[in-house]
Amino acid sequence: MWLLMRMIRITICIKSGKLEDFANMKTRIIAALACSTILGTLLSTNAFSAESVNVYSYRQPFLIAPIFDSFTKQTGIKVNTVFAKKGLVERLKSEGKNSPADLLLTSDFNTINAAIDADVVEAVTSDVLSVNIPAQFRDPDGLWFGLTNRARLIVVSKERMTQNRPETYEDLADPTYKGKICTRSGKHNYMVALTASVIAHAGQDAARKWLSGVKDNLARKPQGNDRAQVKAISQGECDIAIINSYYMGKMLADDKQIAWANSVDLIFPNQADRGTHMNISGVVLTKSAGNKSNAIKLMEYLSSADAQKIYAEVNYEYPINKSVSPSELVQSWGDFTYDTLPLTQVSKYRNDASRLADEVNYDY
Ligand code: FE
Repeated sequence: MWLLMRMIRITICIKSGKLEDFANMKTRIIAALACSTILGTLLSTNAFSAESVNVYSYRQPFLIAPIFDSFTKQTGIKVNTVFAKKGLVERLKSEGKNSPADLLLTSDFNTINAAIDADVVEAVTSDVLSVNIPAQFRDPDGLWFGLTNRARLIVVSKERMTQNRPETYEDLADPTYKGKICTRSGKHNYMVALTASVIAHAGQDAARKWLSGVKDNLARKPQGNDRAQVKAISQGECDIAIINSYYMGKMLADDKQIAWANSVDLIFPNQADRGTHMNISGVVLTKSAGNKSNAIKLMEYLSSADAQKIYAEVNYEYPINKSVSPSELVQSWGDFTYDTLPLTQVSKYRNDASRLADEVNYDY
């Protein structure tokens, strides 16, 4: 009886631990094994026989959970996830080959590169991924794969910017817009990627001048996330902001934020020249992956029409898989020309871009 009770307690402990933090779960299992060899044998059969895959995710639970649930339903493979806004690449690096993580999901391209630089990524060869993801949005050597696309847009106040609207990122440095612009920190990945793309197209000096010009036009010290900039426009604090396209969809779907979204018009920048700057969310396989074949199955699923539809409908992103259309709302924004310079050519300037933000004192 005592043995039975202990088994039940330990099984409950494992099940509850799995969802929160499987690294912690591992520790608990090890402790349980140390307590009893008999229980240990039972446990190893119980806890490890189930097929699973472990994910470190910079992408948020509301978006990822429905996709993982659908994957588990189709394959029977459980997905254990650790969500965090920061520090997952550093965590992978410090855990090294003992890391429980099989996959890292990122919300931008710079983080993919940070993971590659940290030497925690392993290449994947998969015909499914090669078919589902256009070559521009995956590494030729299989180190990274894009999963969704988003445009970095200019938004302007419907009420106060009725004429002389900016049409390019370069326009944002024009003194006519002095005191009118709001952005998030110049050191945030989304801003760093945009600055890196300006460096890639125009060179360091031009980019420094540009960023310094945008800084001179700021209405306030950079703060908050992308949506906070639109809120600031709706409240009259500024007239122009830069945001990722999907935030527009998310605000329109939120009762408390719909008024912010309705206070602005969208502009797809640089339509007459290089096109609008795009970024991706993506996935990499970790070097430590212990569930490699399940991890690749999940990667393939994330690029499938099923998962891409969820990304499109739940988060208003542009599907990377061309067999899937954007959501109706996103389609209503129209077609546009986007910058086709390979992301690797942009991202190699990410450290320079971050340094430029310091040099021009962007955040102060
Ligand atoms: Fe985002």
